[in-house]
Amino acid sequence: MSTIAENIRKIRESLPEGVTLVAVSKFHPAEAIQEAYNAGQRNFGESRVQELAAKVPQLPGDINWHFIGHLQTNKVKQLLQLRPALIESVDTERLLDVIDREAVKLGVTARVLMQLHVAREETKFGFSPDELMQYFADRGFERLQATHVCGVMGMASNTDDQTRIADDFNLIASTFHDICAQCPDLRGFDTVSMGMSHDYPLAVDCGSTMVRVGTAIFGERQY
Ligand SMILES: *Cc1c(COP(=O)(O)O)cnc(C)c1O
Repeated sequence: MSTIAENIRKIRESLPEGVTLVAVSKFHPAEAIQEAYNAGQRNFGESRVQELAAKVPQLPGDINWHFIGHLQTNKVKQLLQLRPALIESVDTERLLDVIDREAVKLGVTARVLMQLHVAREETKFGFSPDELMQYFADRGFERLQATHVCGVMGMASNTDDQTRIADDFNLIASTFHDICAQCPDLRGFDTVSMGMSHDYPLAVDCGSTMVRVGTAIFGERQY
């Protein structure tokens, strides 16, 4: 068995039922993705539109591509043309509006997650929990015509402090639950994407339903 297949097998074994594994393949070649695919993996995460566009035609058509990087509005159309299964990194209302408009034009349904910013050290992309709560309190999603908001995505602080990482994950999960309570009529809002190679077991303990694992599957990235 290849190392990649072995890594996937071990991670899958450690995940409870109902937690989706997204193999983050950014900066890894199509051959590595094919190896993971041959091991049964179908969900892959990419962070750049150009890179995704280059990979899609080289790989099987039944892959579910997740877009996980910062998305510029001028790349939305190209991304949607690649038919991503899920755009995990919607970080502004403006981006969401552009996605919706382009999805209408293309006659597709965009599935998205709202990215939460909770990590405390650096400025990163995403809504604050308060901003996101406000968006749902105002029922902004009702304006969307071709976009399905499926849940939230977030990252913990980049630290070794397990307590702090757990605090971040708990804040993401509690924001998700607050939104569900605020909008009980919201359909298919069921995904909490959090947890990466170094912290996914803790994320799962805190309520993650989707982990995004790169290095622990494919090894270090060559930038
Ligand atoms: C790169 C990346 C990951 C995967 O990180 P690893 O540490 O390699 O597992 C997960 N989520 C996002 C948003 C990323 O950009």
